[in-house]
Amino acid sequence: MLSLVGDLEGPISGFFNFIMAQALASSPNKPCSKNGFTLKRSLQTHQKYSLSCRLHSGRSSNALTADNITKQWYNLVADLPIKPPPALHPKTHKPLEPQDLSAIFPDELIMQELSNERYIDIPDEVIDIYGLWRPTPLIRAKRLEKLLGTPARIYYKYEGTSPAGSHKPNTAVPQAWYNAQQGVKKVVTETGAGQWGSSLAFACSLFGLECEVWQVRASYDQKPYRKLMMQTWGAKVHPSPSNVTNAGKKILHDNPSSPGSLGIAISEAVEIAVTNADTKYCLGSVLNHVLLHQTIIGEECLKQMEEIGEMPDIIIGCTGGGSNFGGLTFPFIREKLNGKLNPVIRAVEPVACPSLTKGVYAYDYGDTVGMTPLMKMHTLGHDFVPDPIHAGGLRYHGMAPLISHVYELGLMEAIAIPQTECFQAALQFARTEGLIPAPEPTHAIAAVIQEAMRCKETGEKKVILMAMCGHGHFDLAAYDKYLQGEMVDLSYSAEKLKASMANIPVLVP
Ligand SMILES: *Cc1c(COP(=O)(O)O)cnc(C)c1O
Repeated sequence: MLSLVGDLEGPISGFFNFIMAQALASSPNKPCSKNGFTLKRSLQTHQKYSLSCRLHSGRSSNALTADNITKQWYNLVADLPIKPPPALHPKTHKPLEPQDLSAIFPDELIMQELSNERYIDIPDEVIDIYGLWRPTPLIRAKRLEKLLGTPARIYYKYEGTSPAGSHKPNTAVPQAWYNAQQGVKKVVTETGAGQWGSSLAFACSLFGLECEVWQVRASYDQKPYRKLMMQTWGAKVHPSPSNVTNAGKKILHDNPSSPGSLGIAISEAVEIAVTNADTKYCLGSVLNHVLLHQTIIGEECLKQMEEIGEMPDIIIGCTGGGSNFGGLTFPFIREKLNGKLNPVIRAVEPVACPSLTKGVYAYDYGDTVGMTPLMKMHTLGHDFVPDPIHAGGLRYHGMAPLISHVYELGLMEAIAIPQTECFQAALQFARTEGLIPAPEPTHAIAAVIQEAMRCKETGEKKVILMAMCGHGHFDLAAYDKYLQGEMVDLSYSAEKLKASMANIPVLVP
């Protein structure tokens, strides 16, 4: 059937298991220029927006008639001086061809995955749906600044206003739309903490697509609310491992009480996709087309900052697979490559899963089982199992190949922060700005606070921009742990890392 079926060994075989892995009227005042950008600065409006602290990009509520709505996604690949290395066929080690992907993705998404085009039009129907929660607010964290006593100005782009409560619907909606356009009847996916599964369930409900989600057993049992959201939007949810796939049956046979893992859940979803002609598979992060869809965040934010006469000196975001971070930063990296801006771009990852800061840059599999195409990325080894930190969305052994490449090019930097510091920062944020962050962006908040406190020491009035990618309303158990004083910092054992790194495949050139 598929040209990609390799003779790879693994607990699951017999099927192809694959993931790739202007609110302001133009200023009457003289325009000012910063970093080559002409900024429309009006003292009056600037004050107004500083006071209300809520900035929209000037779109009216009618998504189809507004002039300055973002109508295209931005593909950073087009502007990179050196192109990222291609994903490789797991068996031949030759660069992937479009047809290698056609059993699991619709044609348009495959084209986007492999595209060198700078801009890709967002379909009108998707723009219309984005209008349900976009543009998302850019908010100045004035009360947090005051608490910290910092001269820095802190802004955050908040994606928690989407129906699912995070940035993930930005890609779930177009993924579902392209599948529906191609006549696909059903899409399948895996979910760990439930953010992605609920986003895809929501998106499918809009297009009459069936949606089936394999949710990691441990999270299925412990986090009933995400499951209920998926069911409310009409999705079918299976605990993984399940009895409905060969992969799941085999694992249950060996270990009836298996808590599951993302790798197992991926295997189950992909099995269903490749064995049913009317079914395709969706992935919520890591891949080029996912990061592409998320650039709507950065394009919008660039406009919003221009409108208030600010440009970031530093941009900070958390990285799991890299999609919210890439989504915010890629349009700014374009301006950096154009010589117009020069912000520091800083990724933040958990100490317990430090793929950028402690991983190696190598071809590795996208899933734990180790049967997927090979992607060149920063990886801790495909069978590295991170300790159970609360930021479930950051527990991935690898990093998006595109983010990894940008990191190698020296266009960004990365740091790791332990989870108790993150939750301490989250409480400071919640008690000043009001929003209760998801466990993942608490990493970005902690890094922003570190930077703001350095500004306090040096007196620098830096503009800090943060990706605030979701709320934590369904993650309050993590806050409970922290508030009870029961949260501990988890790291990784050097031995465990050494063992998983040893399993990274060695490619014969
Ligand atoms: C899924 C998720 C993440 C991690 O994924 P990225 O692709 O790195 O963005 C981070 N934050 C939230 C709220 C998520 O749902």
